[in-house]
Parts: sequence; C-alpha cells; structure tokens
Amino acid sequence: MAKQTKAVRVGNLQVGGGAPISIQSMTTTDTRDVAATVAQIESLAGRGCEIVRVAVPDEAAARALEQIKSQISLPLVADIHFDYRLALLAIASGVDKVRINPGNIGSFERVKKVVDALKDRGIPLRIGVNSGSIDKRIRDRFGGPTPLAMVESALSHIALVERCGYDQIVVSLKSSSVRDTVAAYRAMAARVDYPLHLGVTEVGTVFNASIKSAVGIGALLLDDIGDTLRVSVTGDPLNEIDIAKGILRATERRQFGLNVVACPTCGRCNVDLARLVERVERELATVDKPLTLAVMGCAVNGPGEAREADIGMAGGVDEMLLFVKGKVVKKVPIEQAFDQLKQLVDGWGEV
Ligand code: SF4
Repeated sequence: MAKQTKAVRVGNLQVGGGAPISIQSMTTTDTRDVAATVAQIESLAGRGCEIVRVAVPDEAAARALEQIKSQISLPLVADIHFDYRLALLAIASGVDKVRINPGNIGSFERVKKVVDALKDRGIPLRIGVNSGSIDKRIRDRFGGPTPLAMVESALSHIALVERCGYDQIVVSLKSSSVRDTVAAYRAMAARVDYPLHLGVTEVGTVFNASIKSAVGIGALLLDDIGDTLRVSVTGDPLNEIDIAKGILRATERRQFGLNVVACPTCGRCNVDLARLVERVERELATVDKPLTLAVMGCAVNGPGEAREADIGMAGGVDEMLLFVKGKVVKKVPIEQAFDQLKQLVDGWGEV
C-alpha cells in the first residue's frame, strides 16, 4: 500500500494526498514575450498538461507573470534560481507555486521573507535539487553528487522552510542518471511525506527521453512513489505530455483514452497488421473512452487476447475476425477492418 503524502494545492489542483498524478511541463519561450508564452501554454493545456512552469531569469520576466497568469487557465509555476527578490515579485504577481531552493538564496532573513510571502498567499514551493547543483560541502561529504547527497541537500532546504513554520512543500531530486534518480527518490520517500515531483533530467530528444523517463519515472510509479511528474525533452514540450501520458498509462496509474494492445506479428501473420495498428494508434489517439482494443495477427494466439479486450480483432488470411466483449461478431476483409473498428469505438457507450 502506498504511503499517503501530504496534500498541497497548486492553483485549482491538488498534488499529493492521493490525488491523481498530475502532468507538468515547462515552456521554452522567452517568458518576457507574453503572447508567445501564453500561446505555448494554451497548446500544452490542449494536449493534456495540467501544471505549467516558466523560467524567471530576471525582473522583466517576473513582471510578465501577472499578464501571463491572467490569460491562462493552468496553474502557473515560477522557476527561480538564487534571487529572492524575483521570488517575491513572482509571488506578488499571483503565481500558484514557486520553484526555488531556499538554501541558495542567502541569509535566513531572505529565506524567511520568501516563505512568509508564500504563507500569506497560501501557495507552495518546490524544492528542486539537481545532481549538478548540490552544495559543495554536501558533495564533498558524500564523495560526489550521489543519490544520498541529493537527499541530504533537499533535506537541508526543507529544514529551512520548516524553521519558518511552513510545510506546503513539493520535492524533486533529478539527475541525468536514471539509476541515481530512482535511488534518490526511493530514499527520499522513506524519509519525508511531502509530495514528490518526479523527473529524470537532461535526457535529450524524444527517443532517449522516452526511454530514460519511462525507466526512471516508471520504476518509481510502480513503487507507488510520486505525486506529479515532468518528462524533460529537448525541443517541443508537447512531446513531454505525450510521453508522460504513456508512462502513466503503462504503469496503470492513470487512464488516458484507449488502451491499444497489439501483437508484434510473426511468421503466422497473414495480414498487414503494422499498418492497421499504426492507423488505430494515430487516428483514434484523441478518443477519450476507457476501452481496451486488441489488434492481433493470427488465429492461433490472437483470439485469446482479442476476447479479453472490449473490442478485439484477430487476423486470418487477408481478413480479420472481430470480437466484442469476448464474442465473435463478424469477419471483415482487412481493408474494412479499421472502419469497422472505428464505428464500434464511436458508438461505444451511446444508446
Ligand atoms: Fe504471431 Fe499470432 Fe502471436 Fe501475432 S498473435 S505474434 S501473429 S502468433
């Protein structure tokens, strides 16, 4: 049974405390360019992003936050490094969460000012430790940026916030090493009950990012660790949402649209199954019904899987046997298979 984390509110969304695991992303636009940033946030929201973060590198970016916030519906997170004044500006402009590491912003008075401002607005902060930015003293103590060094670093930031009497905290511990990331989150989950924001960082473009994130984030989700996640991808952030949904679906932590089961085909297959499956995945990608479709290549092993699905197909010679809820309903020529399947999906649940 998963350990219940504290519930934290990020805008209109709950993170932790058993809430559905939310999907986050980060804009790649210049935050000072309000129109471009809002447009990208709207695209991300349309794709399924639930929390969005923007970089706040300077005062002009901090001052753009209010306008951005007024034009979007997603909870907005300000990503700030080192400068407590930017954090204060961001909080005053109405953001829903701030990502900043309290240990990096100088004196305790400064930390207290930021935490007091968060407290006044009732908004949380994310303590986001990356293996590349661990305090030198901690790195030296642990002999490098090890998973336990990341955990120690996060605990020291958490202690500062707790000293200011605040507990609306989300924690992340990202490394470009999948193994270290998983080890760090596992160790952290055993020590605190703050919600955890999962991610593997600096993983590259879509192919590598998908694999590393699926392995790292997936391993943690299968351990019932994690309350929100961001898949990092170099390039278009829309890809991050697709991969995140895929990981949540594969780990059975959330359901998004259709669950397509398809066999890899082998020498027993006598239909062009790859083309059919590719079309099903592409053309039915936006259907949001909790259905399992099985598209199988032959009559030897196919019918078993096809019967288990809501709608199933098993290949014959240039034709497909169609199953609905475990029962054979008809045989259709392979050229008509997609249309038949689509018709059934479209009509599913409608009287
Ligand atoms: Fe081969 Fe049939 Fe299995 Fe597909 S379902 S992999 S075609 S045996």
